[in-house]
Amino acid sequence: MINCDAYLDNNGTTLVPAVVASEMIKWMNHGNPSSQYAAARASRAMMDEFRGYLARVAGCAGYEILFTSGASESNALICCGIINNALRAIRGMGQRVHIVSSAIEHKSIMYLLRDMTDRHSDVIDVTYVLPDASGHMLARDMAQAVRPNTIMVICMLANNETGAINDIAGISRAVKRANPRVFMHSDIVQGFGKIPINIARMGIDGASISFHKIHAPTGAGVAVIAHKCSTDICPIVFGTQNKGIRGGTENVPAIAAAFAATRMAHETMHEDIAREVTLKRYLMEQLKARAPCITLLDYESQESARARLAMQIVIIDSSTSGGDPTKYLPNTLMIAVAKHIGPPACNSMIRDKLEEARVIVSVGSACNSSSKEHSHVLRAMNMPSILMDGAIRVSMSRYTTTRELDLFVNGFIAEAKRQLDTAYARK
Ligand code: PLP
Repeated sequence: MINCDAYLDNNGTTLVPAVVASEMIKWMNHGNPSSQYAAARASRAMMDEFRGYLARVAGCAGYEILFTSGASESNALICCGIINNALRAIRGMGQRVHIVSSAIEHKSIMYLLRDMTDRHSDVIDVTYVLPDASGHMLARDMAQAVRPNTIMVICMLANNETGAINDIAGISRAVKRANPRVFMHSDIVQGFGKIPINIARMGIDGASISFHKIHAPTGAGVAVIAHKCSTDICPIVFGTQNKGIRGGTENVPAIAAAFAATRMAHETMHEDIAREVTLKRYLMEQLKARAPCITLLDYESQESARARLAMQIVIIDSSTSGGDPTKYLPNTLMIAVAKHIGPPACNSMIRDKLEEARVIVSVGSACNSSSKEHSHVLRAMNMPSILMDGAIRVSMSRYTTTRELDLFVNGFIAEAKRQLDTAYARK
């Protein structure tokens, strides 16, 4: 049980409310959903109803909806499935296949592509496309990377670290114009249930969803695959379930809880967005009242201002007035401490101090992590390393309150100032 007064790591995972947990318990002991008794038939009916609901709220009526253990598995099923199928088709023909991916994908895709290219370097090429300085992927850049032998383009809907929302419809149109045969895969995990989504209208052929990001328990997700492409997928887990594309007995209790959580998310989505935008603006105002604040793009273009100030808070949200829910997820704000005296601010020390104050946040990649590697997302944005060291992610949910944000601001500013004072004392 997380013991805290402010939980602000909702892009990591969300807390499960009692009504969702009780749905999970209700669906335990229903037997094997592939069996023929009444309880098993009820489980199958519930899963079919959930598929129908997903088809309506996520705009994927012409798609297979396959239950998985989460989005890492969904990403693997779709990406490995398409790549393995393409490799089978070119076997012995002396040809190569090409994949285009954004450089800011979740590790479940980045590591998969690295593994595939390691094992099949003789036949697979991957082009990683960088985002712009605000963290967004541009359709033009993605399309320019497409080649005649490109089989798949991968671009996530919203980034889990920065919250930047990509124009997937525009990207899909552009890449299919460049090569109509490409399979468009989008990891829509961070957008699903938080912002309106229509998979068909976005031109997506394959999509991954994970329900623990919207107040369901961990361990349940779906892979959404256009009917016309479903025969192109080689399974990675074999069996009869999910039309043989993803075998394995379904996790009925978690799926039932996911259904309840999905309903709740969609019933209150518009009011949740409005509330989170207000909360995000409140957070930015509170930060501005306590320390000099600047947006990332202004920070990068104001060399002289940077030199004058000992410490600034840099807000990674370039949308006009901050908090435009079409450009950045309404629940996400990444902020970085830019400390120009002494060593850079240390985000893991800030995170630990916040935890002592019973406030939970996340750092994309800790400044003193053993690997000393900065977040691949922030590196791809070409963010100055002084900012990557001090970057903290605040991610809210429909249950977040202003009190939680106040607790965060107090702890965050106190620790940032303590690090600055220590640097002055050492001078
Ligand atoms: N994709 C994104 C963008 C995520 O944020 C996450 C979760 O951290 C995943 C995929 C993986 O989801 P899961 O935990 O269900 O495997």
